[in-house]
Amino acid sequence: MLTDIKSLTREELEAQFKLWEQPAYRVTQLLEWLYLRRATAWDTMTNLPKRLRAQLSENYSLGSLELVRKQGARDITQKFLWKLADGAFIESVLIPANPALYGEASDRHTLCVSTQVGCAYGCKFCASGLDGWKRNLAPNEIVEQVLAIERWNEAESARLKVESSQPAAAEPGADTRLINNLVIMGMGEPLSNYENLLKALRILNAPWGGGIGARKITISTSGLVPQIRRLADEPEQFRLAISLHGATDDVRQRIMPVNRKYPLKELTAALEYYQAQKDRMITFEYILIAGVNDAIDQTRPLGALARHLRAKVNLIPYNRVDGLPWERPDEKVQEDFLAALEKQRVSATLRREKGGDIDAACGQLRLKTERAMNATGT
Ligand code: SAH
Ligand code: SF4
Repeated sequence: MLTDIKSLTREELEAQFKLWEQPAYRVTQLLEWLYLRRATAWDTMTNLPKRLRAQLSENYSLGSLELVRKQGARDITQKFLWKLADGAFIESVLIPANPALYGEASDRHTLCVSTQVGCAYGCKFCASGLDGWKRNLAPNEIVEQVLAIERWNEAESARLKVESSQPAAAEPGADTRLINNLVIMGMGEPLSNYENLLKALRILNAPWGGGIGARKITISTSGLVPQIRRLADEPEQFRLAISLHGATDDVRQRIMPVNRKYPLKELTAALEYYQAQKDRMITFEYILIAGVNDAIDQTRPLGALARHLRAKVNLIPYNRVDGLPWERPDEKVQEDFLAALEKQRVSATLRREKGGDIDAACGQLRLKTERAMNATGT
């Protein structure tokens, strides 16, 4: 199988073009086709010489994602199910900016991307890990999730404009980008696909690539200690979110097997290191699951840990997953939990879920589709 062209950094392309005795400006032209115009076929790259196009197509693939299903309406959370070249499914979730929450323009969006097919970490509450881990995504498959959504958005906007007989869409190549924020919180454990993740994020971050600022990219992890330390040593200022979900080893172990390998003491030490290196704010993701981690006494160790690491706590009411026994607590319990944290002067927010009704919790749309396909033998 050929390597996909969108798994290459600018430096790698430059080295390749040098070998082919192509002038450097050809790399710039190619990058514009890939990331500005989001081309999906070599023969559309009309300003590249035919011979170069042939050379490229013989040596590299130019893959794009096939949209299989989409759930949700335009102004709320939308979920995309993609089919990869080998038939595997992955998901991306598009979330509109909430001007009231972040003070951002509401025409910009956050995209939640996947990094693996399935997940090996088997958190007890999560749909992504239910059927185990299948494979890592290649850098281009991570990058393509952003490009494919931008392509889809462009086509949608053009269609809506035709319907409302508004002026034609912007010039091709004009900056009509929709996504200005990335959260690596889709299917998979990003830090166990470290090399490919970092490469993809560098491509998405680069001015010649996705042009998304490093501070607008949040990596979420279930707490892989060696990789957190490694990430701390990287030059980029990516944001870090830790899926904590339990503030004592007892509670965390019950729902997250990874806690046996990396208990809270080790995780805390790695986060101290991350903070010393980066001086960046860490976020704790804390799903509230009824009867598991939502007792008020849990806010004590949680608050202490958050204060110690100057971390912000993001409380997320649990999204039900078919076939799993867990439930979200009543709203009153959620609000009381938040209030108890705030009383300890911890910076905390309670996410009033936008995607609960469309299976926005990670891994659910894929699981449902695969199960339905198995049931019907397709
Ligand atoms: N593997 C990484 C990133 C993907 S999961 C991690 O665990 O951090 C992204 C977030 O969604 C995690 O915080 C995860 O715990 C949370 N999540 C998983 N299933 C959920 C559910 N059913 N309801 C709410 N959040 C869920
Ligand atoms: Fe994997 Fe994250 Fe789901 Fe845990 S929560 S199973 S680490 S995707």
